Amino acid sequence: MRLILLGPPGAGKGTQAKVLIDAYGIPQLSTGDILRSAIAQKTQLGLEAKAIVDRGDLVSDTIVNGIVSERLDAADCKPGFILDGFPRTIPQAEALDLMLAQKSMALDAVVELSVDPDELVRRISMRSKESGRLDDNEDVVRKRLEVYVAQTSPLVDYYRGTGLLKTVDGMEPVNVVTAAIKRAIEG
Ligand code: AMP
Repeated sequence: MRLILLGPPGAGKGTQAKVLIDAYGIPQLSTGDILRSAIAQKTQLGLEAKAIVDRGDLVSDTIVNGIVSERLDAADCKPGFILDGFPRTIPQAEALDLMLAQKSMALDAVVELSVDPDELVRRISMRSKESGRLDDNEDVVRKRLEVYVAQTSPLVDYYRGTGLLKTVDGMEPVNVVTAAIKRAIEG
């Protein structure tokens, strides 16, 4: 099962990915997690990405495309994967199409989690208390939502055009959303 979880910050992509990992025995590939870990370890990548991530902007397509291409070659991605937070721009989606074709892999579905903007802000401000993520504060959250609308939301039409898009109501409780995702991708 090769999946993309698409949706704005706070839509529940990470939460759902963690449940789907167990359900399908496939790894979650979160570019945000990879970048946060590089930042924590102060690697070259982390040093380059820190200021950009902290202010809620997008790291360059070249950097994230490289991260994902390398990650897809790991043995645990053989049975499939859940992409969470990638692609985030049309050029990233095009790069993903190319790398999957080169690796003879095909996507099974792109699941869009749809959530009202007010609910997103409420969820992220709750998360900020637990996560300690510098990019979960109010100004940066607003910026990340703007970036989503401007740069990532066009992916909904992009994937609708491929016939892979499944839209799921992300306002429901976690287990209801999980069930809806499973129905959407298995049905
Ligand atoms: P996330 O955990 O997915 O919300 O990502 C946190 C931050 O990491 C984003 O606000 C971006 O700064 C950066 N990031 C994660 N994924 C990408 C991506 N696919 N393209 C560019 N920047 C990304």
